[in-house]
Amino acid sequence: MKTALITGANRGLGYEVARELSARGWKVIVTARRREQGAAAAAKLKNASFQELDITDDASVACAAKAVPELDVLINNAAIIEDRDQDILTIRPELVGRTIATNALGTLRVTQAFVPHLLKGSAGRIVNVSSGAGQLSDMGTWAPAYSISKTTLNSITCMLAAALKDKGIAVNSVCPGWCRTEMGGPSAPRSVEQGADGIVWLAADAPQDKTGLFWRDKEVIPW
Ligand code: NDP
Repeated sequence: MKTALITGANRGLGYEVARELSARGWKVIVTARRREQGAAAAAKLKNASFQELDITDDASVACAAKAVPELDVLINNAAIIEDRDQDILTIRPELVGRTIATNALGTLRVTQAFVPHLLKGSAGRIVNVSSGAGQLSDMGTWAPAYSISKTTLNSITCMLAAALKDKGIAVNSVCPGWCRTEMGGPSAPRSVEQGADGIVWLAADAPQDKTGLFWRDKEVIPW
């Protein structure tokens, strides 16, 4: 039985990924910064446990790392967006910093804490849930803090992939597409199931030698 830990799994895409992996018979560790919501989400799933985990908080991450046993897959899904209506010419740099602190540095913090858990097994995987908004090759003007944070996350993916290649751990970024979650809103074209599909594939089915890449719909996309 494989084990996956998913950040921000109390709702949205994180919950759906946890649900699908649990339906495949995986052991899932549902993590969330809010205890009540996270525990309620885990209680709905088979083979699931809950672990409180705020990705911006050193103590919370350290505590989770102590509590959790070996992992096969780490899915860094948690993120925030607070600047949908902002403009790169006027956005407060503090807001950019806060968004990077969660979406990129929070992910880095969690990964640093859990790499030792992955090294204990073989063929570990790290899946960083990113966004097309972070693609430098197609950078527009939308949500500058969020977009910059996802570009930063992608560079973290590349560095981690290079650092962990010799250890057999695959590290990839994935864009789920625009999905109907709280973040995506009700008019998004994709369901949560469609968005989760590519994340679950990278966690469970993608060839192990695929690493250091950016994916959408099981295809490599440009950075
Ligand atoms: P939601 O806003 O629905 O869920 C975000 C999750 O992240 C929530 O569980 C939230 O917890 C959690 N979270 C936020 N900050 C923290 C933190 N500091 N510590 C722990 N958990 C935290 O988003 P989605 O499900 O839509 O998005 C999931 C991923 O997919 C994100 O990385 C997002 O950037 C990416 N994505 C989504 C798209 C979409 O259209 N939906 C498009 C492209 C990418 P809480 O409930 O406590 O707030």
